[in-house]
Amino acid sequence: MSDTEAGAGSPRARLTVLSGPSGVGKSSVLAALRVMAQEQQLYFSVSATTRPPRPGEVDGVHYHFVDREKFQRMVAEGEFLEHAEFAGNHYGTPRTPVLQALASGTPALLEIELQGARQVRAAMPEAQLVMLAPPSWEDLVGRLTGRGTEDPAIVERRLEIAREELAAEKEFDEVVVNSDVKTAAADLLSLVVGPRISGV
Ligand code: 5GP
Repeated sequence: MSDTEAGAGSPRARLTVLSGPSGVGKSSVLAALRVMAQEQQLYFSVSATTRPPRPGEVDGVHYHFVDREKFQRMVAEGEFLEHAEFAGNHYGTPRTPVLQALASGTPALLEIELQGARQVRAAMPEAQLVMLAPPSWEDLVGRLTGRGTEDPAIVERRLEIAREELAAEKEFDEVVVNSDVKTAAADLLSLVVGPRISGV
């Protein structure tokens, strides 16, 4: 990534990266945030993934659902700001729309896992990293096993990853605890559109 892309010293809008273990409620918090942010200019990144759609997920809205070949082509062509493998599937953030939003003064929000968050941190040090954390480990296990859309081996794998993700808390600028969806969404929104905490 070039200095121009990293935007050092430019007055661009803030890039916020939201991460948090699977099952912590990122989708619910983001849905509440979208409602709260209706009046505000805010860009929500739509990732590409090789994971099959879950019931109710719409291509181009929740994700761009692509096959592995297409994903690898996008990697080779440098189309991703970051990309990672998570629980056997590939996920990546299309670079151009994010950079365009920031350049036009629109704050942007990525909801991605830990390896991706680290890549964004390395490429764009001015990005704000926010972790969404569960009120307790037991709460997270309950939410993850209760979803019922994934097979037990996948749930087990996601719990393992969740342990690692929570252990990385100190790498994040902010931690928002999801005890209550609306409160967490309001906290997150103020971080996404709020004044910079550290200065470029
Ligand atoms: P899910 O399959 O449950 O939608 O997402 C699995 C994990 O992939 C979640 O932790 C989610 O934040 C992460 N994820 C979604 N999109 C991206 C992306 O573009 N890049 C990375 N690195 N992770 C992503």
